[in-house]
Amino acid sequence: MNEQSALNKHQTFLQDSKKMAFDKDHRATIAYNMLQYETAAKTGKGRFVNLPELRRRAALRKHYVLEHLEDHLKNFEHNFTARGGKVIWAQDEQEAKQSILSIFEQHYVKTVVKSKSMTTEEIGLTECLEKNGIESLETDLGEFIVQLTGERPYHIVTPAMHLSARQVAGVFHQHFGLSEDASPEEITAFAREHLREKFYQADAGVTGANFLVAETGSVSITENEGNALLSVSYPRIHIVVAGIEKVVASLEDLDMFWPLLSAHGTGQSLTAYNSLVNGPAQKGEGEGPRQMYVILLDNGRSRLLGTTPQRRALSCIRCGACLNACPVYCNIGGHAYGTVYSGPIGAVISPHLSGQLREHIHLSHASSLCGKCTEVCPVVIDLHQQLLQNRRLAVKMKLPSRTERFGMKAYKMAMSKRKRLDMVPPGVKNFVARTFFGKAWGPRREMPKVVESFSKQFQSSE
Ligand code: SF4
Repeated sequence: MNEQSALNKHQTFLQDSKKMAFDKDHRATIAYNMLQYETAAKTGKGRFVNLPELRRRAALRKHYVLEHLEDHLKNFEHNFTARGGKVIWAQDEQEAKQSILSIFEQHYVKTVVKSKSMTTEEIGLTECLEKNGIESLETDLGEFIVQLTGERPYHIVTPAMHLSARQVAGVFHQHFGLSEDASPEEITAFAREHLREKFYQADAGVTGANFLVAETGSVSITENEGNALLSVSYPRIHIVVAGIEKVVASLEDLDMFWPLLSAHGTGQSLTAYNSLVNGPAQKGEGEGPRQMYVILLDNGRSRLLGTTPQRRALSCIRCGACLNACPVYCNIGGHAYGTVYSGPIGAVISPHLSGQLREHIHLSHASSLCGKCTEVCPVVIDLHQQLLQNRRLAVKMKLPSRTERFGMKAYKMAMSKRKRLDMVPPGVKNFVARTFFGKAWGPRREMPKVVESFSKQFQSSE
């Protein structure tokens, strides 16, 4: 991507952020939902006897797996295929989509139910299926709502968080003729009925995975509505699309990761449904898919693994806590980021997953660096430091414009010697600040005025 199109992306981000930050309805909805989350998460985290120790252990377990990723993935493949499943390694989104299409072609699949998968968002599976004449339906309520509104998920855990109950009722009124005043309970009951029918009819189910257990070849799926379980149980084909970083070493690890995920994601002590799927239906089993595939998706993860220290971001268990804690996310919302993964974790990983640091580097600047994201992360990813590492990498690669590089050099030169700094009178300093930083500072806040330095003031007072 060239400098101009990266600049355009940055401009779009600024415009969208501004629009959302000044949208009072959006702010009210997010503030309300975040407050609900905070109250629940506080209770959830309060249940642990020693949360800091558990977080440290979880971080170490993830670190251990990432250090031996290849071995654990091979182990998973071996154990999963031993029970009749098939593993497909996909280098990028094209390979993943191609593999899925050829499975569907082979099995005459025309309708698909999907559940719990940001990874399928990442590869743009829904659009791809549509183009190929395959009907695909999101079955988690939040995902179903954003599918109806034609948006991408707003949040990795709560995809329709930006919509108020009234707006959701409006969506169901428009699409299904429900009352405009339908209550959340009525909407949920309707969606359940509507979707249940689709589960019976679907030829294939596509889900993500929260964890892949190497030791047993199991796919762990965590959810609150039970739709993933239905996507696995009814259709004759089940495809799991999972990033290669989802692997954990043993079943014992889930003792730690399941409660951490639920407490940080929704504040629950444990999510309602935690399923372990070990492969297709075995001989004599009446239910379950006849064929099961796991697509192990790389799509830039190896690149991230090879980038130190940002590789730590691969430990992420997608709980969404850093999004909820981020003051920038809470103001601009998930869509303004323009990426599948938003918030602090999205800003850290998007440049590496896409291989387009220039295109996404502005997201690493969209942070107050307050460190709240790091503070709440259950696997102790130092997110705010990672944002700085991305910025450092961009400088190393000479991605900032020539003017910026020249400006920073001049700034460094002036700041490194008091005499040089004092040579410039305050009026000139203020002029330079207004001219070069005025636009970035924005019209809504007053730029601080530079006055005579302390040493000069001190000297003149003597
Ligand atoms: S980076 Fe940490 S806090 Fe953010 S989603 Fe991942 S695990 Fe959760």
